[in-house]
Amino acid sequence: MKLYNTLSRTIEEFEPLNPPLVRMYTCGPTVYDYTHIGHLRKYIGDDILRRTLEMNGYEVKHVMNITDVGHLTSDQDAGEDKLEKGAKKFGKTPLEVARFFEEDFFKSIDAVNIKRPVIVARATEHISQQIELIKFLEEKGFTYRTKQAVYFDVSRFPNYTKLSKQELSEKLVGARNEVVVDREKKNPQDFALWFFTTGRFKDHVLRWPSPFTEGFPGWHIECSAMSMHYLGLTLDIHTGGVDHINAHHTNEIAQSEAATGKTFSRFWVHHAFLSVEETKMSKSLGNIYTLKDIRDRGFSPLAFRYLTFQTHYRSEMNFTWSALEAAQKALEKIYEIAADFPAPRIGCAEFEGDFEDALNQDLNVPRAISVMWSLSRSNYPDYAKAESLYKMDEVLGLKIRENAKIIKNIPQTILDMAKDRDKLRKMRKFNAADKIRVDIEKKGYVVEDTDKGTKILRKI
Ligand code: AMP
Ligand code: ZN
Repeated sequence: MKLYNTLSRTIEEFEPLNPPLVRMYTCGPTVYDYTHIGHLRKYIGDDILRRTLEMNGYEVKHVMNITDVGHLTSDQDAGEDKLEKGAKKFGKTPLEVARFFEEDFFKSIDAVNIKRPVIVARATEHISQQIELIKFLEEKGFTYRTKQAVYFDVSRFPNYTKLSKQELSEKLVGARNEVVVDREKKNPQDFALWFFTTGRFKDHVLRWPSPFTEGFPGWHIECSAMSMHYLGLTLDIHTGGVDHINAHHTNEIAQSEAATGKTFSRFWVHHAFLSVEETKMSKSLGNIYTLKDIRDRGFSPLAFRYLTFQTHYRSEMNFTWSALEAAQKALEKIYEIAADFPAPRIGCAEFEGDFEDALNQDLNVPRAISVMWSLSRSNYPDYAKAESLYKMDEVLGLKIRENAKIIKNIPQTILDMAKDRDKLRKMRKFNAADKIRVDIEKKGYVVEDTDKGTKILRKI
């Protein structure tokens, strides 16, 4: 399987360190507001990566964090904690806000059929691991304290920008443009590991005792502490959005590798953003859409999932309502083509092979989808197409088997007979109902009783 690695900026052959186990870590949401379709695009991308690994026979130990403290409104240690901001906005406590939006997040990812991570780790429930890591970094001399915080000293870590490939001077300028909030910082790009609940954070609600005095963790440290706690010192794959490359992931690498002396993650996978009608989603434009907006306009969350497949994960995706409408139609069509037949279970091997090849080329989902359509238009018998579609759906996750429906060309007489049979069954006249079933079969059709009602299929 080939996968693009942000570290090398090339597509590499992926092999885990200890097959069949793949240690995969995903930066999870900061739970202070509703989950929007941009988030969903990213997490669907991670889901495709995980399912493709599973398709290749790997066992994926997938860990994801929930950021419920410490992520400031600027990634550069300025501003206030997003959770505290959310608490003020919604008139709740930070943890009430966190749990509320965490639930919204999981409801949203369930609706687009994303597999839940094997382990979900909340930052607030792993404070001791974070403190341990900071203490260790202090002992090794990678940190310093000011009146406001414990900082990681990036000048002590060689090759700090190996992921971002930024010039340090570039980064310096970037960091300098931020509001300078702590004049005692040695280098502008040093980042906080632990904030003290004094000064600008004296009213911060979430706080814990620590060897560095009372406070709360900086954002980056949670991911290093929790990923290494659950997955060991070297991860196979770390994922996130492209926005995380320059600060968050760069800092994760610095603190983890400074502590362990080992490679933190062998592969870095970054997902490009989603924009709406060619513009960035923003509050002022009122275009931060959630699944509620999608449902309110009569579309299914799975149609959105399908829509994301049309853009490769490393390219920006442009969301439009007309594209979603087309996606919904395409999905309905697939459900029709995939109608279940009680037939010999043989698929179309060449298409299945092409489909897998596409995914194994750096998750080329757009190509995989076009293979799916070529299969659907091919001359293979319907039952074989259906069988292959079910198999492909183990990666696509469009719930094709559950939604497959036959509505094509069933003669009215057969439909009437099935209706009569349903009535008899409701009256518990099973013998009479069974006679009709046999008659239907004699005419070349089969009835199946599913939990969604009776399904009529052509007999093979
Ligand atoms: P956050 O909760 O803001 O930390 O975001 C969680 C994840 O969603 C991050 O990995 C972001 O990169 C990603 N994300 C946020 N906005 C978008 C967007 N518009 N398109 C794609 N991914 C996004
Ligand atoms: Zn992270």
